[in-house]
Amino acid sequence: NGHDDVRRRAQSRSKSRTKSRNSSVGLRLQPDDFEFGEVLGEGSYSTVKYAVYPPTDQEYAIKILDKSHLVRKHKTEVALLEKNVLARLGPGHPGIVRLHWTFTDEWSLFFVLDLAKNGDLKTRLTDLGSFSIPCARYYTAQLVDTVAYIHSKGIIHRDLKPENLLLGDNMWLKITDFGTGKILEADSDRATTFVGTAQYISPELLISRCTHRSSDLWAVGCIIYQMIAGRFAFNGMTEYLTMNLVKNVEYTFPEGFDNEARDLVQKLLVLDPQARLGAGPPGSPNDMNALRSHPFFASIHWDSLWKDPAPPME
Ligand code: ATP
Repeated sequence: NGHDDVRRRAQSRSKSRTKSRNSSVGLRLQPDDFEFGEVLGEGSYSTVKYAVYPPTDQEYAIKILDKSHLVRKHKTEVALLEKNVLARLGPGHPGIVRLHWTFTDEWSLFFVLDLAKNGDLKTRLTDLGSFSIPCARYYTAQLVDTVAYIHSKGIIHRDLKPENLLLGDNMWLKITDFGTGKILEADSDRATTFVGTAQYISPELLISRCTHRSSDLWAVGCIIYQMIAGRFAFNGMTEYLTMNLVKNVEYTFPEGFDNEARDLVQKLLVLDPQARLGAGPPGSPNDMNALRSHPFFASIHWDSLWKDPAPPME
């Protein structure tokens, strides 16, 4: 396939490179150091391309942001925020699209990211309609585990939704899109400013314009619901009506919705951010371990969550 072609070309080019060329590794990278392949996707301010780094034959997704476009649209801060958040998250968790390097040329910013080869959960959900309970359980567990890590680094994602949940090697989950993330200052677990997507936005953001760590837990509740029910928990005819449903926590379960999943969703889609399951500070009775201990996850082996094979996607 196309990826293999790029990889072969990159390998042969790499062999013919001189030593001095290779010695640029670890110093300053430039676009020429990579062999670019197909476009993987387009964002509002970026193009993401498949690329191989010949010295190691490693594959990446490189996000290319057009500098003048960022300036024109006043989005330079968003790009820098995404970079800073990813840098702060570091390499410490497999559930995050890791940022390996950044560099610039005259026109563009380049973010060298983990390649997620298997698309995103939104596309899979659209194709399948909904997920089986074991599949929904597995991706919920990987999501919860990764969100716990993100929060432990003092970051709120603020735009968790199936299209930001990519699938990497082994079909493991990889959270992306930290352009709306928030770095919390010490001693604060709240942040203001309006960001997010109507169907997953938390009531506190709509009512008092503030987000907490647990606003991400609200989104987790919406995502579990959607994976199992095959539709949004909150979805009105217009964005305005959707937001009213959210503010009133107005949703119903379809018949036959798994009982334990239902109980979990009901404990996450709670108006009071502090009352959501897992919302307490680490070490408190309602911390993320309380969430991990919910009966819906009884069959999950948290210790080997990132070692065991993923269940079939069905
Ligand atoms: P927006 O600009 O609205 O925030 P976005 O977050 O989808 O859009 P990007 O992060 O630039 O924008 O990603 C654009 C597309 O590129 C994604 O929808 C996805 O299909 C693909 N993509 C992004 N990152 C990766 C990755 N690490 N591996 C594989 N594909 C990716």
